[in-house]
Amino acid sequence: METYDALLASISPTSGETRTILDPATGQPVGQAPVHTVEDLEQAIAAATAAQPAWAALGHDARSAALLRAADAVERSAEELARLLSREQGKPLNGPNARFEVGACAAWLRVAATTALEPETVVDDGETRAELHYRPIGVVGAIGPWNWPMMITVWQLAPALRMGNAVVVKPSEYTPLSVLALAAVINEELPEGLLSVVSGGREVGEALAGHPGIGKIMFTGSTATGKAIIKSSADTVKRLTLELGGNDAGIVLPDADPKAIAEGLFWGAFINTGQTCAALKRLYVHTDIYDAVCEELTNVAATMPMGIGLDEANVLGPLQNRQQYDIVARLVDAAKASGARVLLGGNPDPDRTGHFYPTTLIADIDNDNPLVTEEQFGPALPIIRYSTVDEAVANANALDVGLGASVWSADPAAARTVAARLEAGTVWINKHGAVDPRIPFGGAKQSGYGLEFGVEGLKALGVPQVING
Ligand code: NAD
Repeated sequence: METYDALLASISPTSGETRTILDPATGQPVGQAPVHTVEDLEQAIAAATAAQPAWAALGHDARSAALLRAADAVERSAEELARLLSREQGKPLNGPNARFEVGACAAWLRVAATTALEPETVVDDGETRAELHYRPIGVVGAIGPWNWPMMITVWQLAPALRMGNAVVVKPSEYTPLSVLALAAVINEELPEGLLSVVSGGREVGEALAGHPGIGKIMFTGSTATGKAIIKSSADTVKRLTLELGGNDAGIVLPDADPKAIAEGLFWGAFINTGQTCAALKRLYVHTDIYDAVCEELTNVAATMPMGIGLDEANVLGPLQNRQQYDIVARLVDAAKASGARVLLGGNPDPDRTGHFYPTTLIADIDNDNPLVTEEQFGPALPIIRYSTVDEAVANANALDVGLGASVWSADPAAARTVAARLEAGTVWINKHGAVDPRIPFGGAKQSGYGLEFGVEGLKALGVPQVING
């Protein structure tokens, strides 16, 4: 798309019911989103079902070539996509935000296109020859959240398309325009009907999860919705990949250098203004360096400008919606009421337009405080003091979620030993939340099941078939 207006026009409905989407930073209208219904979903599934066999028959090389062209198309429209994402989601253009997210879309499309997946010879002993292949599933449903709406949609659709499936996407009702625009750009390079977006509410998501024409659901969102999807998909025994909520712990060992790690800690927690599934949400710091870490982190956090996304200076934005703002405000208020110490923030301006909650650091907080035990999903980080590594590990593992975790130390070998004790799908060392399209990513415990990315991610979008003879 050549201009922002052309991009918006390409997704603006010319008929049917619409809904005005408001910019979370300014309250101004961003555009009109279609209000799709379960009938629209039926049509999308019928079109996907019709388009899928020819797409599957193309084979891996032709499908990969189409995905590489789609990555080029995303890059051609990168600036327009980033501006729309910034206005609808709230995230700034700069920092690890809107432009970064659009860049990630192209990167994930390319890696899904170029990752090799060969049939595997499991046994070949002269008598038995057994090979493991992966056949397309058919039509895949992709249901996503509002925090990284474009990137997570690509995480779902890129491996699905590469493996020969058609895809019906149900975006979050908070960020439909971003997903519609991304799909419009990708669709410049795909056959008609193969990829469509049904921009409806929960009832559309529920119908998608229960539909007999859908073979698999890729879901990213809250643990509560993940459980609902398990139930609604049960009658049709759908395959599921569930990337659910997290409350990631970071453990700073006593030998870490507070100054050296402060910026990494900050972005681990505050990337996308804290609205990130695998962000650092509970920081455990050894008592020997507790005060120094608090001070260095506060120094870094105080320099990070928060404001309207289209202002090039900002690197932090508003909460995407009022509901999430209220969750953050409630949890910080509970922490303050308990006597915890506010190092920074915690004092939102009630007169400020937009869902802006200030960058907040809370020290001397008990491990059972709600700001520690509940997922805040916003710009507020509790910092908990510990005395022994056993205590820190026990606290980190005490919750029923386990998406990511991190260990911070000057001694990588010592950090790996602690990492192995943590109940999380990924444990990073001296960084947090660094996802990579080549490296498998998935949750432990109630953070979900199934792996995305890399060759494991491709396998998850196929039906394993053994040919034995
Ligand atoms: P949500 O669960 O409220 O909504 C996600 C999507 O599910 C939306 O599109 C929604 O319309 C749809 N939905 C709602 N009810 C449904 C139902 N009964 N059946 C089918 N679909 C339904 O989540 P959210 O508030 O958009 O996202 C925030 C949450 O997502 C946080 O908990 C966060 O940790 C999690 N998250 C996880 C990851 C990850 O990779 N693990 C990534 C991003 C966000």
